[in-house]
Amino acid sequence: MAVQIQWLRRPTAGLGQRVYLLDLDNTLHMAGHHILPEINRQMTQYLAHHLNMPEAQASSLRTHYWLKYGATLLGMMRHHGTDPHHFLANTHRFERLGGLSTRHGSVPARLARLPGLRVLLTNAPRAYALEVCKAHGLYRHLHAVVAIEDMVIHRQWRPKPANILWPHLKKALRRRLLTLVDDTHGHLRQAALHGYQTTWITPPGIRFASRSLRGPVRHRIRHFDHIRALA
Ligand SMILES: [Mg+2]
Repeated sequence: MAVQIQWLRRPTAGLGQRVYLLDLDNTLHMAGHHILPEINRQMTQYLAHHLNMPEAQASSLRTHYWLKYGATLLGMMRHHGTDPHHFLANTHRFERLGGLSTRHGSVPARLARLPGLRVLLTNAPRAYALEVCKAHGLYRHLHAVVAIEDMVIHRQWRPKPANILWPHLKKALRRRLLTLVDDTHGHLRQAALHGYQTTWITPPGIRFASRSLRGPVRHRIRHFDHIRALA
């Protein structure tokens, strides 16, 4: 089984070989203040409830799995046989997603002008990702989405930055030139090793250290708002 591309609309003619793979949280919108802490809270509660442990222990186990596997979900599947769909549905519950995050005013217009196929590539569940995109006026400018449920390779869930993901993604998209735009340096570093171009959205509030660019990641911008210069 390969990576699944969920097409939202037919690409217009003349888009060429370039694909922009766009991360969602803290790349196309700022999820840091409300959404991510709430997801962490819901995950901690899930672990506490299903593994029958105190919240403090659940919280440190959540962090441990995230650091070790790149996603808490992967640790839960591997060590506890957790059903991934049940986990995702119960750790991304929001009433009004659009009101919980912000984006720069020009992001939809910048997105619309990117000269290539525009594919959302997120380790978040699809329902959550599409709701955020609709709330922020991004959905209609995207051609396709690859969410965490779509990154299943040989029956294993392989979200970013899994080594095996990048060649499979390239094959599934049938394009030669791929650019990953992401705020997580580890995702970019791994993609770059597989020949992807990369643009790093430096997280807000984090001072940029020039030594971070000595590796394969060569471009960075403060906001997606500045993407035009690199398009
Ligand atoms: Mg992100």
